[in-house]
Amino acid sequence: MNLNLHNYDLIIINSSAGKDSLVAKYEVHRVATEQNYDIDKIIVSHQDLGAMEWKGTKELVATQSSYFGFNTVYSKRRNKAGYEETLLEYAERRGKWASNNQRWCTSDYKRAPGARIVTALTKDLGECKVLYVFGFRAEESPSRAKKLEFKLNSMLTTKKRTVYDWLPVHNWSTEKVWHIIKSNNLPYHFAYDLGMPRLSCCFCIFSPFNALVIAGIHNPELLDQYIEVEEKINHTFKADCSLASVKEAIQKGYKPKVVENWRM
Ligand code: SF4
Repeated sequence: MNLNLHNYDLIIINSSAGKDSLVAKYEVHRVATEQNYDIDKIIVSHQDLGAMEWKGTKELVATQSSYFGFNTVYSKRRNKAGYEETLLEYAERRGKWASNNQRWCTSDYKRAPGARIVTALTKDLGECKVLYVFGFRAEESPSRAKKLEFKLNSMLTTKKRTVYDWLPVHNWSTEKVWHIIKSNNLPYHFAYDLGMPRLSCCFCIFSPFNALVIAGIHNPELLDQYIEVEEKINHTFKADCSLASVKEAIQKGYKPKVVENWRM
């Protein structure tokens, strides 16, 4: 779907620095160039999860944005007192990890800080239309397959501001994603070469065991911090797998198998 970008006063691209948001940037840039749309009106928004993310993620977002000539803004979750509580501190305070049914890691650490960015970037624009871009792909999961490629975002739309979600790579295959990245030499994260099919949190509540092992091998200190919280709250990271068992496997020399993309 090719939209007329000139209908929008601002384009905000949500980026984790992962492969899908990277090709979403590529696609927005391609269409913007074709339509002679002002690149200065395209902003990349990254919700920074601090030490929970793979090393170099925050810097890579800026590198990817600069590659296309986009500016980058960052946001972090803050509690009511303004304190930037980490995901680990939050889990410890609640006494539970996030889960598929209680996905506060996404709502509180990604959606809400991202919404703050939309408010900040549009506050001086008066009446405006915003294109809110995500790298979600149908292949990722049944719930992402059901998402519409283009729709009104009623949560972020106000009297003055109309926001539309756009998923420019929704129908792309993983093969196409990597083909575009490799053939254009786009800057991607080293975690993929270590065997991770996804980026964002090193230890994701949806990661299969083998991905947790890869993440643990390359982030041993962070793994220990997660295990410490697991012990304190007496709640395993996933219902069927503790991070303590991941560490045990690493210590026994377990060699992780190839990890397929997992469902989000
Ligand atoms: S990467 Fe996983 S753990 Fe991190 S916010 Fe997303 S769903 Fe939650």
